[in-house]
Amino acid sequence: MKKNLETICIHGGWKAAKGEPQQLPIYQSTTFRYETSDQMARLFDLKDNGYFYTRLANPTNDAVAKKIAALEGGVGAVLTSSGQAANFYAIFNICQAGDHLITSNNIYGGTFNLFGVTLKKLGIECTFVDPDWDDERIEAAFRPNTKCFFGETISNPGGRIFDIERFARLAHSHGVPLIVDNTFATPINCRPFEWGADIVTHSTTKYMDGHATQVGGCVVDSGNFDWEAQHDKFTCLTEPDESYHGLTYTTSFDKMAYITKMVVQLMRDLGSIPAPQNCFLLNLGLETLALRMRQHCANALKVARWLEQNDKVGWVNYASLPSSRDHALAEKYLPNGTCGVIAFGLKGSREEAIRFMDNLDFISIVTHVADARTCVLHPASHTHRQLTDEQLREAGISPDLVRLSVGIENVDDIIADLQQAMDKM
Ligand code: PLP
Repeated sequence: MKKNLETICIHGGWKAAKGEPQQLPIYQSTTFRYETSDQMARLFDLKDNGYFYTRLANPTNDAVAKKIAALEGGVGAVLTSSGQAANFYAIFNICQAGDHLITSNNIYGGTFNLFGVTLKKLGIECTFVDPDWDDERIEAAFRPNTKCFFGETISNPGGRIFDIERFARLAHSHGVPLIVDNTFATPINCRPFEWGADIVTHSTTKYMDGHATQVGGCVVDSGNFDWEAQHDKFTCLTEPDESYHGLTYTTSFDKMAYITKMVVQLMRDLGSIPAPQNCFLLNLGLETLALRMRQHCANALKVARWLEQNDKVGWVNYASLPSSRDHALAEKYLPNGTCGVIAFGLKGSREEAIRFMDNLDFISIVTHVADARTCVLHPASHTHRQLTDEQLREAGISPDLVRLSVGIENVDDIIADLQQAMDKM
């Protein structure tokens, strides 16, 4: 039976059989027992399916991965120990030394570093493009060794909206997949596969968990990208893998080629699996994701409108506001709401922004974002404090930018807290 997203949030991934626990059990075990040596050998030869070691697969983790794959409309998913690991795995599964990727420059700072600094050390080059550039200028970034294009549905911290359909078209016309980090939108508000994206990543640490209880990530494959049509570009999937019984992922696993390779090769060699206990916590968060996203969006829209009217506020960027330059894109890709994260600037100096934050009552100053509690961050004073004002602007972050992550408390209380903090500025 085809199910709607709210139902998948509750029932996806785990169905209790007769006498089994109604709630997803935590299989907190590194390993799984077999009765004969032959039974175990058959698992290693991939002749039988079964669990043998949690670094490769675990029933709790698998159930949660299946739920997220169903929410995104993908064929399979892999959970990772962080969002950083998810983005690294998504790229490293198809890129190696000598390869190149292109990314929107409107992305999370941690991903910016991962792509620009750490991948470079591994011999993978990255070109950052401004998504506001015209097609011709973007096309010029593609090279023969380009393996993928990357962007964030809603960028962190700027709140820019990524034109998924446009970048899917550009990526596909150069024979490469589009990878979209869908962390802030979540599949409740946007399903990038429906717009042509091929692979989706998440920091599940954010709305999916929603309660700041675990750090995690996820990579989901749509199964739509035709690796064989680009046989010579993606030999990592289309030619035998000597490190895994000489099997060829596309031949043996068809639409599950990309995800299977990620598990049997990257997880085997690099690890980065989440603990089953953390997957259980993530699953609890997922159960209420649809409800919470609705409330985050309703609250944030009200707060954004209030900020827009406030004479201490210089500017507000929240794509659901008609005044946002990305409003048309938000209407197209996120018609039911964007997310709870608002970027705004206070009139005055950096010090004013600091005074405002120090005066807040229950709204907390944390580096975290996108969960039930309203929180605030000033990138120039916190995550990006090593940068000068000029360097901040180059990274697309104005020195006065305050990132407000609107939670699901009563919105009148959120506004009252912001008001009293501004009154003391
Ligand atoms: N992607 C986005 C859009 C993020 O906002 C973050 C973290 O803030 C990450 C990835 C990295 O996720 P994690 O902190 O779970 O490693």
